[in-house]
Amino acid sequence: MKILKFGGTSVGSAERIKHVAELINNDEKKIVVLSAVSGTTNALVELGNCANQKNKAKFEITLRTLREKYEVVISELFDDLAYQAQAEEYIENHFALIQSADTDNFTTKEERIFLAQGELMSTRLMHLYLRSLGVDAVLLPALEFMKTSDGEPDTDYIETEIEKVVNKFPNCKLFITQGYICMNEFDEIDNLKRGGSDYSASIIGAAIKADEIQIWTDIDGMHNNDPRIVDKTFPVHELSFEEAAELAYFGAKILHPASVLPAQKENIPVRLLNTMQPEKQGTLIRADVTHDKKITAIAAKDGIVAIKIRSSRMLLAYGFLRKVFEIFEKYRTPIDMITTSEVAISLTIDDTSNLSKILDEIDDFGNVESNENQTIICVVGRFLQDDANVAVKVLQILKDIPIRMISYGGSKYNISLLVHNDYKAKALQLLNDGLFFENAT
Ligand code: ADP
Ligand code: ASP
Ligand code: MG
Repeated sequence: MKILKFGGTSVGSAERIKHVAELINNDEKKIVVLSAVSGTTNALVELGNCANQKNKAKFEITLRTLREKYEVVISELFDDLAYQAQAEEYIENHFALIQSADTDNFTTKEERIFLAQGELMSTRLMHLYLRSLGVDAVLLPALEFMKTSDGEPDTDYIETEIEKVVNKFPNCKLFITQGYICMNEFDEIDNLKRGGSDYSASIIGAAIKADEIQIWTDIDGMHNNDPRIVDKTFPVHELSFEEAAELAYFGAKILHPASVLPAQKENIPVRLLNTMQPEKQGTLIRADVTHDKKITAIAAKDGIVAIKIRSSRMLLAYGFLRKVFEIFEKYRTPIDMITTSEVAISLTIDDTSNLSKILDEIDDFGNVESNENQTIICVVGRFLQDDANVAVKVLQILKDIPIRMISYGGSKYNISLLVHNDYKAKALQLLNDGLFFENAT
């Protein structure tokens, strides 16, 4: 069985939905994971904000605009009026639920219910469209099997429950389900964070031990650099799990940061493919990759805060780092980069929700300084210890860019550099030109 995940743009209009239906309508047994129609989740976030701010006027306009978008999709998707009416009825239920929210008592629980409506609507529409074509497909409600506990997928539960729901339909070849949404340990509707449908696909793939997980999107695979910012990027046809995980974690938007791990654990190949150009090779992510490139790709992660702690108590002391790390543990804040000297530590975080509390507590240890608007630039490849050439080249290329931190040797798959966000675009372009086009390594 294969898992095929289609992102927001891939189901972004009636035409796109029809195109995806064509791609999935064949004899191969598969679970299709869908995102919300593009723009929907952003609109639902906006609706949540309006409800929180009790801004009824903006709430109404945003809801009406979203509704009109769905009217267009429905009228273009179905020629048959009976199917149109059925689709209208489905969609009406979701909009009525949003409309009826009690904005005077709006909580994060309601907000998460809002956010779930996008994937619930897109899968409904796809399922109904397939039915209108006479294609047999089963709609699997993700909320019946996708569960998180303490923010992590509850893999045992997911495995058992997904097997149960799939086994109810032994002759079915085509299952449709929602990406992104899940139940949490309090039995509330929750989600896997923005871009989380990739993660859903990987979790489902791992749970059913799929033969392959395919992520269908609007670009021909993982590019060697961010195509939104950099000129002359190109697709990388093969990546190891480790390389792909580094790139996803460090900002390559094509993959949700956590989406490689479930597939990697079960050794399931992940293929990144272009819905608009299905014939393109895309990217294959798997173990035992044979390419011998030293540098594979570059990614960048924004919104980073650098924290420097200077303390003479660090000198020749042990246990100091543990005490500092305990503060981050207490506030459940992951650290991305770290460098140390005899009397100072610099580290970075991207989750700033508890920043002021963290800084207050660290203040007891010595002199603390924090800098916002930093970006981690991550050069991914295979860096052998006895070949320092790559690190030298990276630093030479960036000789005119102020670098705040460097992390090298933590893993053999990346070199990470911290720069101010103002230098991000320039640094990425320089690295692209210097590493991939001039006497490329
Ligand atoms: P989907 O809606 O299908 O999940 P996303 O917008 O989340 O699609 O991801 C695809 C987008 O990721 C591409 O359109 C591209 O602009 C962006 N992107 C950023 N970095 C990369 C990269 N290194 N390779 C490919 N795409 C990237
Ligand atoms: N619809 C969700 C989002 O826009 C999840 C996804 O597309 O992967 O973030
Ligand atoms: Mg995405």
